[in-house]
Amino acid sequence: MTKSYVIKPELGKEYPVISHGKGIYLYDKEGNRYIDGSSGAVTASIGHGVEEVAEAMYAQAKEVSFVYRSHFSSDAVEKLATKLAEWAPGSLNWTFFVSSGSEATETAQKIAIQYWQEKGRPTKNRIISRWMSYHGITMGALSMSGHVLRRKRFTPLLADYPAITGPYPYRKPEDMSLESYALACANELETAILRVGPEQVAAFIAEPVIGASGGAVVPPDGYFQRIREICDKYEVLFIADEVMTGVGRTGKAFGVNHWGVVPDLMTLGKGMSAGYTPMAATIVSDEIIETITKGSGSIMAGHTYSANPQSAAVSLAVLDYVEKHQLVEKAAEQGAYLLARLKELADELPLIGDARGLGMLCALEFVKNKQTKEPFALSQGVGGKVIQKAFEKGLLIYPAMGGIEGVAGDAVIISPPLTITTEQIDELIALLKEAVIAVQ
Ligand code: PLP
Repeated sequence: MTKSYVIKPELGKEYPVISHGKGIYLYDKEGNRYIDGSSGAVTASIGHGVEEVAEAMYAQAKEVSFVYRSHFSSDAVEKLATKLAEWAPGSLNWTFFVSSGSEATETAQKIAIQYWQEKGRPTKNRIISRWMSYHGITMGALSMSGHVLRRKRFTPLLADYPAITGPYPYRKPEDMSLESYALACANELETAILRVGPEQVAAFIAEPVIGASGGAVVPPDGYFQRIREICDKYEVLFIADEVMTGVGRTGKAFGVNHWGVVPDLMTLGKGMSAGYTPMAATIVSDEIIETITKGSGSIMAGHTYSANPQSAAVSLAVLDYVEKHQLVEKAAEQGAYLLARLKELADELPLIGDARGLGMLCALEFVKNKQTKEPFALSQGVGGKVIQKAFEKGLLIYPAMGGIEGVAGDAVIISPPLTITTEQIDELIALLKEAVIAVQ
């Protein structure tokens, strides 16, 4: 093999080179086949090699691939924004296009702060977020992220610190009902707002289902309804980070739809273009846009590739595909089957403490002691070992290491394309079982 100069996640390690993909399968140049059991990074939600998307990509490229958003709009961008306004709940009608989830959450952070400035309340500039959360790797997004491992090298540069913890039903106090646990966790937000002072708080950000920092941790009913009430009471904007959960992944169009809660800002990425091109978005309410329009008239954010027609055409084709094949509904149905199969594994194998999830976003959490739920030390990297074994057997799954010693142990995310069939789920489960047995 010729020497590689690509900076890869693990320096010095050789990675297989991919040749092509079709549906839920990827093939490397050595002829090995992999089940994409995590849709890459919970991204390739319509599967690989979809012809319609490739055709839309080519059709747009023949017309024009790039125009700068300060000069032009394009049909693709206009149509996509209209479609997102139809998909999104409430008055979330306005889309700011970016190219990654980190840009989307950081743009949401900036818009929230700007909104309060335009309202004549510039001290409302702090963002409250949660431990065990991930909102992105750029500094503003990382400031809001409660992912200890990813924060620790850059602590001096991070503006905000997560203030509260999200609900973690597997580890709730045993003598507490789920209902009161949900309220107690949500009420932590009220305490945090009062501590900082409501006149200092611009927004609260949360993932509807915790992804990379905990592994498909689903909040109990009542949690997000109470969060919405608290945000309204103290005039704090609610940002739903739907980068991982959005566009059908959890079996509804957006994660917050499970609880009928409408945020003020919502971020999308990953499944929005299903990995066919970099594309992400910050979706904003009428009230915020009207306020800024009447005020300075311009949002202080943007990137060179924001709103480029090529990515918009691809994302439009992906959303059309999701609608045409009813993939949101399929994610709910097949996701329920996937979770049932994962729960069987959890019953059978001592290493698995919890199997959980919503729609096609599921996870297994590994524990040292199933009875006491004692987590593994992070240095033991049990999730990482399962991921490696699964990889060797031709199954891709995704890490969700909480990075908080003694709180969140190792978990792995299982989130295949929403197109996966029942037989393919069985095939996935068989390989996963072999991988866990090989580690325990
Ligand atoms: N927000 C959430 C909820 C995510 O899961 C991620 C990535 O995993 C991000 C933001 C950051 O997205 P990106 O990696 O595209 O910058």
